[in-house]
Amino acid sequence: MTVPATTDVLIVGGGPAGALLGCLLARRGIEVLVVEKQQGLERDFRGETLAAPSAVTLRRLGFGPALTEHGYLETTAVSMRMEGRQVFRVDYSRFPVGVLPIDIPQPALIGMFNEAAAGLPGHTYAAGTAFTGLLQQDGAVHGAVLKLPDGSRAEVRTRLLVGADGRFSKVRKAAGLAADVRPMQRDFLSFKLPRPADWGTEAELVVLRDKHLVVLPTFPDYLRVGHNLPKRGLGDLRKEGFEAFRDGIAAIDPRLAPLLAEHLLSWDDTSFLEIFTAEVPTWSRDGLVLLGDASHTVTPILGQGVNLAIQDAVCLAPVIARALGGTGTVVPGSAFDEFAAGRRRHKAFVTRFQRMQEAALAQHTPLRTALRRLRFRTLNSLPAKYRIFDKVINAPHPIDPVDLRTTEPAPAPAA
Ligand SMILES: Cc1cc2nc3c(=O)[nH]c(=O)nc-3n(C[C@H](O)[C@H](O)[C@H](O)COP(=O)(O)OP(=O)(O)OC[C@H]3O[C@@H](n4cnc5c(N)ncnc54)[C@H](O)[C@@H]3O)c2cc1C
Repeated sequence: MTVPATTDVLIVGGGPAGALLGCLLARRGIEVLVVEKQQGLERDFRGETLAAPSAVTLRRLGFGPALTEHGYLETTAVSMRMEGRQVFRVDYSRFPVGVLPIDIPQPALIGMFNEAAAGLPGHTYAAGTAFTGLLQQDGAVHGAVLKLPDGSRAEVRTRLLVGADGRFSKVRKAAGLAADVRPMQRDFLSFKLPRPADWGTEAELVVLRDKHLVVLPTFPDYLRVGHNLPKRGLGDLRKEGFEAFRDGIAAIDPRLAPLLAEHLLSWDDTSFLEIFTAEVPTWSRDGLVLLGDASHTVTPILGQGVNLAIQDAVCLAPVIARALGGTGTVVPGSAFDEFAAGRRRHKAFVTRFQRMQEAALAQHTPLRTALRRLRFRTLNSLPAKYRIFDKVINAPHPIDPVDLRTTEPAPAPAA
């Protein structure tokens, strides 16, 4: 695969943010090259939850038939059990947004965006192609150096480079856009188990003192389980041995014990996620803008990562289209000030909420865990819980009328 020597927009990273943005720009007739360092779409373990506003947005953008054809799982509620008792529950059907969050594997979601874009003139997708450096001149970004699948190097000149390369963004670093990275108190070890037929469709947080599991029913027929561990505690956990780890999980949620015994057989069945938040004060420079996790990384609490990435892409597409209408060789960084200010405000709000939850979950003394139970029970009895959650997970975002007009029903992804 070769890449064009020039393109109007070069997107680095074909995750949910980059792939959707590439599709929306191509639908508008804008020349766009999406480069993705992985050859395929499979990833170890990624956010697969689409919050309700994203589900609404994707349907309005014409992806409804593809979603239906692929299939997904609706999540009906989120609940929290502490020391064996349910202390908190939010019923997702009670929010004004009127639809439920859905779970769909990330490869299917990204595949949908790529297939919708594939036939459009001006859209090029280069798999196995990695960003390695910026082309800069007079303080502005003019393009990127790429490593192609055969190991050779190519330079691509562009009017706008979009860094959508995720939480460890190389583009962000190369552009000198500093990130305020704050580690959370714990990290995550995740794994998948087959979902018993009679398992419900609620996302559950199961807490035992300072240990917790997130148990997410996931499409088509499995559970995604995330287990917290102390920061940099993976080495110690491994020293204690795999059996001890598995027994520890079963102690937190005894319902999982038979599934663990049969299906979680070694450390190879687990994957590690370092939990941190990263806030980036400046999202753009002349010729460059950041998007999705690259611009602001959130934690897995309430599964907002993909939701925010989709919202970013939908909000950014019309801004790019307008900015390309200018005459400069590169798009000025100031073209993105308003976009960045609006999105940063929302993402900072989500992050603040997640940090509060994380602090509550990290409590472990008997007194503090008792107080925590009481606090969640009290919150559970207040109707205000729906207002608070609605603000965090269901914030609406605008869709530009042009993106609605350019909507064609997207084809279903390959099975
Ligand atoms: C292991 C893991 C587990 C997660 N679990 C959850 C969860 O449970 N709940 C939740 O809400 N969120 C979770 N997330 C976060 C969620 O997946 C992200 O918030 C979401 O995918 C962000 O989308 P994005 O497109 O901005 O970035 P990403 O999905 O990270 O996509 C970035 C893309 O850029 C590509 N890339 C990186 N570097 C280069 C390069 N140099 N050149 C070319 N391409 C490059 C990557 O291969 C990737 O495809 C998880 C993330 C990870 C990494």
